Amino acid sequence: MKRMTSRPENLIRPIVRQMHGYVPGEQPKIKGLIKLNTNENPYPPSPRVIAAVKAATDDRLRLYPNPTAEKLRAKLAELHGCKPENILIGNGSDEVLALAMRCFVEPKQMKYERRTDAAKTTVQYFTPSYSLYPVLADIQGAAKNAVPLNPDFSMPGVAELKRGKQWDFNAALTFITTPNAPGGRGYPTAELEKLCRAQTGVVVLDEAYVDFADEHALKLALKFPCVLVARTFSKAYSLCFQRIGYFVGHPELIAALDKIRDSYNVNGLGQIAAEATLDDLKYYRANFKKIIATRAGLARELTKLGFRVRPSQTNFILAKPPLFPAQAWLQKLRERKILVRWFSAPEVSDYLRITIGTPAEAAALVKAVRGIVHGR
Ligand SMILES: *Cc1c(COP(=O)(O)O)cnc(C)c1O
Repeated sequence: MKRMTSRPENLIRPIVRQMHGYVPGEQPKIKGLIKLNTNENPYPPSPRVIAAVKAATDDRLRLYPNPTAEKLRAKLAELHGCKPENILIGNGSDEVLALAMRCFVEPKQMKYERRTDAAKTTVQYFTPSYSLYPVLADIQGAAKNAVPLNPDFSMPGVAELKRGKQWDFNAALTFITTPNAPGGRGYPTAELEKLCRAQTGVVVLDEAYVDFADEHALKLALKFPCVLVARTFSKAYSLCFQRIGYFVGHPELIAALDKIRDSYNVNGLGQIAAEATLDDLKYYRANFKKIIATRAGLARELTKLGFRVRPSQTNFILAKPPLFPAQAWLQKLRERKILVRWFSAPEVSDYLRITIGTPAEAAALVKAVRGIVHGR
């Protein structure tokens, strides 16, 4: 038989060929930029964390880490008033979100093959929210149901969703970013509870920014078997580099997720850094206060300069700039060595998303904005 040489593109599954990958915020190579584009924490990890990581950087690097992040799960269980069996650690919360997709959602194809609508193929989320969700759905070959938030980024209530018809109360998996990103708004736990009660599939409450908010909804993960709360050490705990995130939820869901993860999905230094973080929460809570105070001050100053600043329960603000389109502002600020984020999605393309930095970084931003507004 004549051997056909395959073109590389024909080696790739069609759903992978057709999908678009996630686009992360820029990590600039240029020195001296003020980086307010990826919601990193401006304050360093606790000195105890740095010391713990340094102390662990020795001969142990040749060994496999603890496969179930046992110590870290025990500490988190104590913090959250649950059992280690309620907790699954991932390589960042991005990984636990991906595991949920693989664990709870059937590819669309299943519907046709089995000729049944019982196959749960729908992934649901509000727009705007975290842009990774549709990417994960595409990888899985899932059906996507993207439902708009209200124009002020508040969440439609259950009654409103029932009237609106587009919301799927039987979706296999529903992601809710709370507080919302990039909108910034926090959603009341009582409202989230009503929605969780109405869903028949799994609901993930993605609480990446919750330490900067007035309220959290962790209790819903311990109350409803279908609810998972996702948390991360990245944003509030200054640990993006180490990639530690986790789910809290029902032991049966957690056990199912545990089955499908890589056996050593959480690196050893990350486990040690996260454990040491939990030993010094006082340090981090003081930083949350500083960031929240800087957020209030920055919102006031930008409002005075003509920005329309949305309310925020996160470590960033979403603000509609005056005079020029948001994308032009992105460029003008970059010329002044300040990096912020702009999204092309129509619901948010009039806005800039600005990470809350130190007071000095906020002052530099206000100074640059003043210069742009006054044409200097
Ligand atoms: C940053 C972010 C994550 C991912 O956090 P990692 O733990 O660094 O993977 C998840 N969800 C939302 C909404 C985020 O903003």
